[in-house]
Amino acid sequence: MIDLHTHTLFSDGVLLPAELIRRCEAKGFRGLVITDHVDYSNIDMVIPNVAKACREIAAVSKIKVFVGAELTHVRPEHIKNMVKRARDLGACMVLVHGETITEPVLPGTNRAAIEAGADILVHPGLITEEDARLAKNNGVRLEISGRKGHAYANGHVAKMAKKAGTKLVFGSDSHTPDDLLDRSRAECIARGAGLEEKDIQEMFYEAASLVGL
Ligand SMILES: [Zn+2]
Ligand SMILES: [Zn+2]
Repeated sequence: MIDLHTHTLFSDGVLLPAELIRRCEAKGFRGLVITDHVDYSNIDMVIPNVAKACREIAAVSKIKVFVGAELTHVRPEHIKNMVKRARDLGACMVLVHGETITEPVLPGTNRAAIEAGADILVHPGLITEEDARLAKNNGVRLEISGRKGHAYANGHVAKMAKKAGTKLVFGSDSHTPDDLLDRSRAECIARGAGLEEKDIQEMFYEAASLVGL
């Protein structure tokens, strides 16, 4: 399993990066990306500090760990600059907290993330077919979410991605140890979203290639 979407206590998760990494290692994961919530207030603190843990641990362990970030409730007008800022600070994977149906994320966030060339637009809710098509053209992946609430729209996201030919990836969006999902559980959620076996395998292949595994 490679998990592209996880949180630590650097945002609203409950584990230190070292413990999250160890928990994933103990579950036999091949890799993970730590993608704490960032906005204007904490981006400069979170990314470099999580990067320290990733660097130190990667040097002595088999599991591949990467620092990323999830731009969260950043105003659509600012998303492009903030994606760049996250990359400049060392994030190797920039996620944007999309228009989930469970929070009042500002309309226009999905579009701004796609136009900014974020790596993954996570839990994009009732994304339009037009935006899914634009995501495909801009090389932005859409997420099938393992998180309760965000996952309500997985079926719609899968349908739009299929229509538009957009690449999908899976993210557990883990905040606690119990949220971590192994591959078989993730595949089960993807099937529940209506994906076919071929699509599911492609989704995990995409995750692996994103982190060079
Ligand atoms: Zn999110
Ligand atoms: Zn998240």
